[in-house]
Amino acid sequence: MTSRYDVLIVGAGHGGAQAAIALRQHKFTGSIAIVGEEPEIPYERPPLSKDYLAQEKPFERILLRPEGFWAERGVAMLTGRRVVSVDPEAHTVTTDDGGTIGYGQMIWAAGGHARRLACSGHDLGGVHSVRTRADVDRMIAELDSTTRVAVVGGGYIGLEAAAVLAKLGKKVTVVEALDRVLARVAGRALSRFYEAEHRDHGVDIRLGAMVESIEDENGRASGVRLVGGELIPAEMVIVGIGIVPSVEPLRAAGAEGGNGVAVDEHGRTSLPDIFAIGDCALHANIYAEGMPIRLESVQNANDMAMIVARAITGEPEPYHAVPWFWSNQYDLRLQTVGLSTGHDEEILRGDPAARSFSIVYLKQGHVVALDCVNATKDYVQGRNLVTRRVTADRAQLADPTIPLKMLAGEAAAPA
Ligand SMILES: Cc1cc2nc3c(=O)[nH]c(=O)nc-3n(C[C@H](O)[C@H](O)[C@H](O)COP(=O)(O)OP(=O)(O)OC[C@H]3O[C@@H](n4cnc5c(N)ncnc54)[C@H](O)[C@@H]3O)c2cc1C
Repeated sequence: MTSRYDVLIVGAGHGGAQAAIALRQHKFTGSIAIVGEEPEIPYERPPLSKDYLAQEKPFERILLRPEGFWAERGVAMLTGRRVVSVDPEAHTVTTDDGGTIGYGQMIWAAGGHARRLACSGHDLGGVHSVRTRADVDRMIAELDSTTRVAVVGGGYIGLEAAAVLAKLGKKVTVVEALDRVLARVAGRALSRFYEAEHRDHGVDIRLGAMVESIEDENGRASGVRLVGGELIPAEMVIVGIGIVPSVEPLRAAGAEGGNGVAVDEHGRTSLPDIFAIGDCALHANIYAEGMPIRLESVQNANDMAMIVARAITGEPEPYHAVPWFWSNQYDLRLQTVGLSTGHDEEILRGDPAARSFSIVYLKQGHVVALDCVNATKDYVQGRNLVTRRVTADRAQLADPTIPLKMLAGEAAAPA
């Protein structure tokens, strides 16, 4: 059966949901449908490695909107269906149930799939990704029979899961291939702080450790074998090694891209009437000096959704939102603003031993990002320093008794 919608949104996650909401907010009166691979209506993904895994929040409390909301707004929710191909000339997509759906304009908001290990044993029972509700429900179901957990990958998701599981009394080992955790996203000082925190909570952190294989015991994981031979025994293995952007059908239809699908400053792909947003969208970001990047954050998914809704409703505005992110581990709330990639200087502000401090990242003397640990005031006030790329006095930046908003006033060099 063929149906047709004025706007078809592919992906019922953060970006897809926000795009539908923003279209209605901008008085878009045409028909809208969201087609999503997962069976659930849109829900928040960040709690999956935090309070949902800890079983402190039931699923209903992580829904992005209550069930009735979508019908009230005239948004058809076509869940449990994966788009497998796109015909940009006919303006149709086909789904894995054999259906065809027509569109006037399409917003591709398909995020990414968890990257899997390539070694032997990667598909054994007890080996988990942390990307979907189903992933985490499977983990939760195994927790009672799990004493030891190996987390492969010391990024935010792996560390958050490690924190939850350590608090639940599991013996957790984090295996990280690089010489520090959070290497892709933060500076050295923050990495060292989090390594120490995890060790203080009984988590064994193995740096520079490469996985050789997952050991098999009757079809289930029994441990992680490291290159060099050491075995880390574990009934549960959590793999947090990033995502592969879900763009195959679009790329097969001819959309430009590489590690993601390329979009312009309004979220337009190279294919007519097709936009892309969120984790899968490769865009030139002014906070990365115009380099094409993908950002994996709720901020990026939501803000890009807003930009695309504006483009569709005839109020275009370029995407220049400042990146921000958060991570919760133990009683530590990290808030990040800006992009620290490529920084050449880190300034510590406050005392990590007091578990409330910030790190200010500079590039050629300009503030490009802040990581704030239990320091919300710095995060809020530091945003202005980042958006204006100020050059502030280093001694003042390092002095936590001087509010950052005072420095914003004195600072020079806007972007
Ligand atoms: C465990 C975890 C913790 C996180 N914590 C944080 C955090 O603390 N702070 C933060 O800012 N960000 C966090 N993130 C990242 C954030 O959740 C993502 O950046 C955000 O969800 C991206 O939104 P999106 O719409 O691009 O993709 P998603 O929310 O992933 O939605 C994409 C949807 O599209 C579906 N899909 C994929 N392919 C197809 C297809 N072909 N057809 C139909 N549907 C398809 C997927 O199944 C998925 O449901 C976290 C992510 C995870 C997994």
